[in-house]
Amino acid sequence: MFVYADNAATTKMSRTAAEAMTRAMEDVWGNPSSLHTTGQEAKVALEEARAKIAALLGAEQPKEIYFTSGGSEADNQAIISAAMYGAKKNKRHIISTKFEHHAALHTLDKLKKQGFEIELLDVHENGLVTAEQVAAAIREDTALVTIMYANNEIGTVQPIREIGAVCREKKVPFHTDAVQAVGHIPVNVMLDNIDMLSISAHKFHGPKGIGVLYAKRGMILTNVIEGGAQERGKRAGTENIPAIVSMAAAMEESIKNLDENTAKIVPMREKLIEGLSKIPHSKLNGDRTNRVPGTVNFCFEGIEGESLLLLLDENGIEASSGSACTSGSLDPSHVLLSLGLPHEVAHGSLRLSIGEYNTEEEVDHILKVVPEVVDYLRNMSPVWEDLCTGKREHII
Ligand SMILES: *Cc1c(COP(=O)(O)O)cnc(C)c1O
Repeated sequence: MFVYADNAATTKMSRTAAEAMTRAMEDVWGNPSSLHTTGQEAKVALEEARAKIAALLGAEQPKEIYFTSGGSEADNQAIISAAMYGAKKNKRHIISTKFEHHAALHTLDKLKKQGFEIELLDVHENGLVTAEQVAAAIREDTALVTIMYANNEIGTVQPIREIGAVCREKKVPFHTDAVQAVGHIPVNVMLDNIDMLSISAHKFHGPKGIGVLYAKRGMILTNVIEGGAQERGKRAGTENIPAIVSMAAAMEESIKNLDENTAKIVPMREKLIEGLSKIPHSKLNGDRTNRVPGTVNFCFEGIEGESLLLLLDENGIEASSGSACTSGSLDPSHVLLSLGLPHEVAHGSLRLSIGEYNTEEEVDHILKVVPEVVDYLRNMSPVWEDLCTGKREHII
């Protein structure tokens, strides 16, 4: 049996999205900046996609939607824009959290070197930050609050609406990386008090290399890519019409089917959590219920995440030890460390992220294979032996 359980890394394109992309490649191949008919046909397709996405996100106007190359670029541009605008008013304090995606954290590092003061809030061990923490951190010179909607490694969902309300009240711009949220849980920029928001199509069965930066009317953007006057002069480069049209179709489909998909995925996730919790000295990372439908992250004491993944792959199960962007490096995940897990425990982590294409039979297969593989690895592990003989203390 083959099980793809790494949907937080990327999702398979849906048939709807793939067909929309192919059609756009054949039918609207013009440059939307051209004044002739072929160009204007592409322009119409571009603006239809923009209007559709604006409506799906609850934005006030289509012009608040800017197309980017993906979630990373949207995060970069949102954060840099608020920093540059803040600096003009002598505001150089930025609030974020310790468990953001590296697209945010590395942008913040760069700003720190340029003299900004970056305050990363602690994350509670359940994988949540609170609006109270944000309220307590905001100062006169705060230029931006940027906090992710749903975490990509553990799946916990932050109280974005309350955090947004605090920022509104204190008149501080609020950005959220909603890459793991849109298409998976309800998101509405207006109701959620969001000023800027990042999206990536390939996390909801759309194509890779395309995303959105939503910026509320009145937000002043700084270019990350310079050149022509596309995207109201804020993001140069000929628009990737096939990908944009396909992203709009994928977003529409995933939001239309959201309730139905949630009703299918959540019981499978619950079964996974219950099954994996039976493995001795294992721990579910992040809040038990306050999470996106499909993401589950566990630590198993005495084993190493990388070996676990390789053996699972041999048994037809594709999962991840955390963020795909950091796999390959042997440092434990910054997300798990931010929850207060010790290094040795954070090393033994497994992220399973399922979606509506998964089946109950696949979940049963996971629940059969993972305990066997954990057992096998523990039997070879010197650390596990120390734990069993009492030379080391169990932590979980
Ligand atoms: C995948 C992801 C990104 C990066 O999006 P890309 O489109 O791959 O650049 C950013 N933030 C989060 C939370 C993600 O899961």
